[in-house]
Amino acid sequence: MRSTPARYAPRVRESDLLRHIQTRSTLGEGVLVGPGDDCAVVVGTSHQLLKVDQLVEHRHYRAGTPIDLIARKALARPLSDIAAMAGRPRYALAAATLPAGYPHARELFDAVHGWGERFGCPVVGGDIATHDGPLILSISIIGVAHAARGPVLRRGAKSGDDLFVTGSLGGSFDAATGLGRHLTFTPRLDEAAHLADVLGHDLHAMMDLSDGLGIDAGRLAESSGVRVIIERRRIPLSPGITDPSQALQDGEDYELLFTAPPGALPDSGVLPTGCPFARIGRIEIGAGATDETGQDIAAIGWDHR
Ligand SMILES: [Mg+2]
Repeated sequence: MRSTPARYAPRVRESDLLRHIQTRSTLGEGVLVGPGDDCAVVVGTSHQLLKVDQLVEHRHYRAGTPIDLIARKALARPLSDIAAMAGRPRYALAAATLPAGYPHARELFDAVHGWGERFGCPVVGGDIATHDGPLILSISIIGVAHAARGPVLRRGAKSGDDLFVTGSLGGSFDAATGLGRHLTFTPRLDEAAHLADVLGHDLHAMMDLSDGLGIDAGRLAESSGVRVIIERRRIPLSPGITDPSQALQDGEDYELLFTAPPGALPDSGVLPTGCPFARIGRIEIGAGATDETGQDIAAIGWDHR
């Protein structure tokens, strides 16, 4: 018998759903960090990082995007979360739900394996299914934390810290073509590892910027129980971007946002990989995220609805 279509309540905001999941999750033995940070952290002989991420056609990329770029982004997004903890990836698992009759399956899987190798994270297993819907690629990453520093969490920011960002922000998605840096970025794994090498435990907190500097700064503030203040004029803007508001809201930058005590790093510089970094603000006692005028910026960004 055919079942009747499921009926769902009005759509839920992702941030509300995530908060629900975080408060309801019970952490088993050996689980140091559960839902709510960039990766889970489990304790074995070392701190292991676990991450799963989905890439959905029409949602995360447009139909017609080159297969190679779809595969690249599917791996790069969860790898950016491994970088956000200053970890190193070890292995990936790939699960694909293909549209019925999808003609590019071999090319897609070759590309996924190829990017796994190039990103230093071989794809060691996976699963395939088909459905009457868009292409969905789900990638799980198993990684390890920085041996000396351990996992760098969102919750470590302290009042008085300086706030830094790598690279430049804004305009990662070209609305005319659907292409852009959101498809071609390289996860900041080497930059994060260098920061952990140099700063050690002075690298107080870190996350990657996926949904926009505004909303992500709000998440850092909430996790750490502090107030984040960002000076708009200090935000490094991507080529072609002239308004800091775009950098606050555009999202999909996949740069690192991190904090360190005053004086631990200069206001700006270039990491050994050639990636620049810049101080964009500070951490104070309080809650929320604002610009230097006190305007709330924690709601500015991309909340998946
Ligand atoms: Mg993240």
